[in-house]
Amino acid sequence: LRQHTERALEEGGRDVAEALRASVDAAYSDKQRQLMERLQRDAERQELQKQINELLDFQASFQSERRALLRARREAMNKLQEAQGAIRVLCRCRPLSATERAASEPSAVQMLAHNTIGLTQGFAERTAVNAFGPNGAKEAPQVPPEFTFDCVLGSDATQDELFEEISPAISSVLRGQFVCVMAYGQTGAGKTFTMYGDGSGGLVRRAAAALLAEAEMAAAEYAERGTPVQFELGVSLLEIYNDRLRDLLAQDSLNEAASLGGTSASIYADSVRQNGNLDVRVAADGSVSVPGLVVASFSDAGAMSRLIEAGTARRITHGTGCNAASSRSHLVLTVHSVMRDKKSGIEVRGR
Ligand code: ADP
Ligand code: MG
Repeated sequence: LRQHTERALEEGGRDVAEALRASVDAAYSDKQRQLMERLQRDAERQELQKQINELLDFQASFQSERRALLRARREAMNKLQEAQGAIRVLCRCRPLSATERAASEPSAVQMLAHNTIGLTQGFAERTAVNAFGPNGAKEAPQVPPEFTFDCVLGSDATQDELFEEISPAISSVLRGQFVCVMAYGQTGAGKTFTMYGDGSGGLVRRAAAALLAEAEMAAAEYAERGTPVQFELGVSLLEIYNDRLRDLLAQDSLNEAASLGGTSASIYADSVRQNGNLDVRVAADGSVSVPGLVVASFSDAGAMSRLIEAGTARRITHGTGCNAASSRSHLVLTVHSVMRDKKSGIEVRGR
């Protein structure tokens, strides 16, 4: 190139030479830029690697901190549950429906305190709340009545807030407690919404997810202490319709249960159904069971949801909405937990 340039200069082609020099310079600075970029990329890569390492360290310390926090939370939950007592009555008010809003219906209730609701003024007058005097004579309605519960959740309460109230009891299932959560109320009050929710799931899905996570945690802790245990969770679905018991998972040949993600055996191998009929047994200790009811194991929340969907689709009154018959159908969904000591085989059963 230089020779060429000199020759060009010699030949008096100054312009040509200048152009050539410019293009040499351009090529050179291009190369330089590429080099700089590569150096920068290497530096960036090193910086990223450093950040990744820092994140991994952080994750490790976060994990152990999380476990300590969860342990503290569980202990607090235990204490809370003891303090709250064995039976709690919660009240949840649903928001007005679209139809009610369209008809400009007023809300029937108002929150008076964290644990107290009252009827709203208009409703108190509309409802036939009559008091009777000592001689049985009707007296004028008193001030709007108030109702006090252990806790009242207003119409803006989220499913998570509701679950927070129940979760101490749910966790105790893993320690062998028998816990019952019952939704009670007239048709349209929000029982199904509370238990099963809409898209985000309700109490049931949250409870199953919490039990799975806590079982995993507890298993890790037991293993650390040298007493390894194995948790098994299962679900059963019992419909009580006109005083008859129906096993909503029984029609799943157990293979079908397996195809839904459950395992192909009942987690209670000892529970054998008598004469093909289901019956409620009350044991000497007062615990209630239904021998032979299929309990399908699950090991992830998705599998449990699919088992519940398949089962609830078989309810006699499924999807009938607001009809009188629905009050004759009750669904008992039970999550069963078995904690088995791997060495001794000793079991702790909760549900
Ligand atoms: P129930 O099972 O008691 O008969 P539902 O759970 O079916 O009543 O509730 C009736 C309607 O009100 C449903 O459309 C449900 O989605 C809605 N609903 C109930 N509770 C709530 C709530 N807390 N937030 C929003 N919508 C609700
Ligand atoms: Mg319902």
